[in-house]
Amino acid sequence: MINLLQILTEIHELPKPSFSNKTLNELHIGTFENIETATEDTSIILALKKFVQRRVSALPVIDREGKLVNIYSKFDVINLAAEKTYNNLDVSLKEANDHRNEWFEGVQSCKLSETLFAVMEKIVKAEVHRLVVVDEDGKVIGIISLSDLLHYLVLRPSEQDSNKKNSESSHIQETLLSEIICSNFSNE
Ligand code: AMP
Repeated sequence: MINLLQILTEIHELPKPSFSNKTLNELHIGTFENIETATEDTSIILALKKFVQRRVSALPVIDREGKLVNIYSKFDVINLAAEKTYNNLDVSLKEANDHRNEWFEGVQSCKLSETLFAVMEKIVKAEVHRLVVVDEDGKVIGIISLSDLLHYLVLRPSEQDSNKKNSESSHIQETLLSEIICSNFSNE
C-alpha cells in the first residue's frame, strides 16, 4: 500500500510542471455542466439509479438553494451493504448518512480560483476520490474527480506542458501522480 503522505512529500520536493500553478478556471479540468446532484430527502434507490444512469461515482448533496451540504458515493452504498445496515433502499440519504462511519471526514470542496496543485493536495490529504467545485456562495458548480486528473495529468501530459524544461522530473511526477490516483481508486 502506498503511503500517501510520503508521496505528497516527494511531490513537494520535485520541480512542479508549469500547469500545476494554474487555476481550475484556466485549465478547464473537471465537469461543469449537467452535474447530477441529490438532496437529503433523495432515497438510496434513487441515488443508485442516478449512479447507473449517469455512470458517475458520487452525487453532491445540496440544499434548496443549491448549496453543498454533503456527498453520497457508490462507496457509501457498498459500505451499507457490507455492514447490512439497511435492507430498505427507500430510506433517505440523510438517514443513511447519519449512520456513516466515523472515518467520513465530510465533503471536500474547492473553488475555481484554486490551483491544480492545491486541488491535488486536498485530494491526497483527505484521501478522497473527488472535490466538489463550489462558487463564492457555496453553490455547486462542478466536480473534479480522479478520473479528470488522470486524464489531464497522465494521459495527455505532453499536450498540456509542451514547454517542459525537465522532462525527467516531469516523468517522475507523472508516475507519482498515477500512483496516487491508483491508490485512491483502490479506496473507492
Ligand atoms: P467519476 O465517476 O468520479 O470517476 O467521474 C467520471 C466523470 O464524471 C468525471 O469527468 C467527473 O468529473 C464526472 N462526474 C463525477 N460525478 C459527477 C456528477 N455527480 N455529475 C456530473 N458529472 C460527474
